[in-house]
Amino acid sequence: MSDAATPAPPHAPPRHPMLARQVRRHLAPGGQGAADGLLANPAVLRFLDAVDAAYRDADREGVVLSHSLETMSAELLARQAQLRRSAEAYRLLFERNPMPMLVHAPDTLALLAANDAAVAHYGWRREELLAMTLAELHAGATTADAHAAREAGAEGRAYTAEWHYRSRAGEPRCAELTGHGITWEGAPARLVLAVDVTERRGMEARLRQQAFHDGLTGLANRALFTDRVEHALARGGRAAPPTVLFLDLDGFKRVNDSLGHAAGDELLRQVAGRLVATLRGGDTVARLGGDEFAVLLDPVTPEGAADEVAGRVLAALGVPITVAGREVRVGGSVGIATHRPGATAGDLLRDADAAMYAAKAGGRGRAARFDPEMHRRAVERLELEADLRHAAARGELRVAYQPVCDLATGAVRGVEALARWEHPRHGAVPPSRFVPLAEETGLIEDVGRWVLGQACADLAAWRATLGDRAPGYVAVNVSGRQLDAAGFVDDVRGVLAATGLPGHALTLEITESVIMRDADAVLGRLRALKALGVLLAIDDFGTGYSSLSYLQQFPVDVLKIDKSFVDHVAVGGGGAVLVRTIVALGESLRLRLVAEGIEHPEQRNALRALGCGTGQGFLLGRPGPAPDLARRLAEGAPA
Ligand code: C2E
Ligand code: MG
Ligand code: MG
Repeated sequence: MSDAATPAPPHAPPRHPMLARQVRRHLAPGGQGAADGLLANPAVLRFLDAVDAAYRDADREGVVLSHSLETMSAELLARQAQLRRSAEAYRLLFERNPMPMLVHAPDTLALLAANDAAVAHYGWRREELLAMTLAELHAGATTADAHAAREAGAEGRAYTAEWHYRSRAGEPRCAELTGHGITWEGAPARLVLAVDVTERRGMEARLRQQAFHDGLTGLANRALFTDRVEHALARGGRAAPPTVLFLDLDGFKRVNDSLGHAAGDELLRQVAGRLVATLRGGDTVARLGGDEFAVLLDPVTPEGAADEVAGRVLAALGVPITVAGREVRVGGSVGIATHRPGATAGDLLRDADAAMYAAKAGGRGRAARFDPEMHRRAVERLELEADLRHAAARGELRVAYQPVCDLATGAVRGVEALARWEHPRHGAVPPSRFVPLAEETGLIEDVGRWVLGQACADLAAWRATLGDRAPGYVAVNVSGRQLDAAGFVDDVRGVLAATGLPGHALTLEITESVIMRDADAVLGRLRALKALGVLLAIDDFGTGYSSLSYLQQFPVDVLKIDKSFVDHVAVGGGGAVLVRTIVALGESLRLRLVAEGIEHPEQRNALRALGCGTGQGFLLGRPGPAPDLARRLAEGAPA
């Protein structure tokens, strides 16, 4: 305040009425005059001016302030509304989400909230659910699972785990739970997404089952079996060395071909059931494919017990099985291999396989233990088999013809076709080696078809060029496996049609053992063949165990007396008696007789004397190529 201020006129209206009133009120005790005096004092007036100015400034700022407060609160309201909207959106996102979601306390796992999907999925009412913990809701989940969830909650980390639990209805289920930290009603909590993976895991389990099990029998498949053997090998140590049994069924193909695939499948299922019933729980039974089975013995099986187990398996298979309403018999051959140092699972299986082949070669229904010599033979067999597969296509197969002669005149009545294999490296492989191999592998069907076709074509050619000097018939050997094959009768019909031969120009030779193996099944085939007009011969007669009652039923025309009888026919004693008996049998059944393997004139004479009119053997003619025979026929007298 400055002293130089202009004094206000004495009765001028006060410059600051409000302030002046205050001054007068406060100075009232001093009298009105004092107040007026003060108000006339320029210094006081200046002071009052300053106060007034300050008030005015304050007023102005107040306006500004209230204005900005207003805008701020409007913004806040807008923000609030926005937040409310987004909270609403989040609430909807939670509540209406089709994925079950739960909120729980991080430490206790007590459930704080559950969305509609969770309520529907778990089958509890919301109140019930909110009285539970996450662990209680997933009854049966492990405590380790609950512990891990609490731990992740305490550390505020996200976590995912698969919980196996029982639903409210008691069904086993599987949930994939993913937990995240959130703030729920102002406090830290966990949001859990619960994905039900029961179906997916079930599907995966089924796929695994399919990948490691045989779909038909439910047994382990080759992959799983090999894996188990590998594990057994790796365990080694205290347990007995792993032992594998390899089983191959006999007669499966016949059932499959004659009764159909459904019956074949049924047979395999029943065999699988028998194996499982015969073996112990700790043994692994597998179907390796086709009619091959394998067993890995329980490691606690005492060493040496494998033979006993194999015996039990074979005995179980020996009992007839009913499929498609028919009683069928299947046997089997078992190979046994025990681990040898350094062998892999594949080696062990191969050893057992080789032993099985050795068992089969020794006669059906047997078991054999592996020895290394079998391995060598198995390798050789494999090579031969691979070569045989291409033999026909590469022109390595031939047919040799052996004349069947009248024992009195020496005239050629017919010829027997005998297969020959000219192997490019091994030279001539005898039928005794490759025919059994071809039978085991099924290649006999191709080889046999080729021989049949060639033999008929050759006879047709001879008939065309030699006229009545041509042999009256060609005899073709037929293996059991060929006879079993579905298309065999059609093959024969087709060959006859293609070559124009009458049925009686073809004789089919079937060994006695094949005929007796499954007489009922074979009978139907033989009748179908007879209907084509062909003749049927029983080969190697006397070596099998023919039932005479069957023999009578069979539509056979020829009995071929086995060489083993012929060998002894001329030396007197029992040999001649046996041949005489066979001749008598043949005559009473009205069968033609052909003696095999005649090497000496005495044998021929003895046979003639006993009433056997025809025969074959080195004495009468060795098997030879078609042109050799044609030459002999062309030179010789008419047959
Ligand atoms: P198999 O049908 O009994 O044929 C007679 C066998 O005795 C032939 O042997 C023949 O060469 C031989 N042989 C003939 N005369 C004499 C003789 O005086 N002395 C001696 N020691 N042997 C004689 P091969 O040709 O070695 O055939 C052996 C067996 O192989 C045949 O016995 C037959 O069972 C089978 N086989 C041959 N070719 C075929 C074929 O195309 N298919 C089938 N499934 N089997 C065949
Ligand atoms: Mg024969
Ligand atoms: Mg024979």
